[in-house]
Amino acid sequence: MKAFIIHLNDWAEGERRLRFHADLEFFQEFDNTEILDADVNVEARVVKKGREKVEADLHLSGTVSVLCTRCLEPLEVHVDQAPAEVFTPGENPDWDLSQAVYDYVCLSLPLQRVHPEGACNPDTVRFLSHEERGDEEAGAKNSPFAALKGLFDSK
Ligand SMILES: [Zn+2]
Repeated sequence: MKAFIIHLNDWAEGERRLRFHADLEFFQEFDNTEILDADVNVEARVVKKGREKVEADLHLSGTVSVLCTRCLEPLEVHVDQAPAEVFTPGENPDWDLSQAVYDYVCLSLPLQRVHPEGACNPDTVRFLSHEERGDEEAGAKNSPFAALKGLFDSK
């Protein structure tokens, strides 16, 4: 597994800058099936303050692809997160930041996973919704009643 692990044993106090790339394989290791593709760069400014405390300022930037719930085509989501993490080494000299990176990317995913208006694959949308129309709200289009509404609205 390609994990983002910082080995703390071999360096004294001070600051280091590390880079990590989270690709599709990384997310598959977490048994994630929602993410279809991933290209996320992680920059970490890691500060070791003695044996007791290590801090990391992370910057996650890039894109992941998930399924658009309206047209079932890949939807690209931009990731831009700058969280800070703290680690107490204790007996463990390795700091695994994989879970944190994974969690922050998942937090970036929107609840409404739909393309902007007009950007969906029109063929799939037509097929899936029987040419539903008129709804302004993306949320309404995702409800199971949207298709019914479309039926009633058509003359
Ligand atoms: Zn779409």
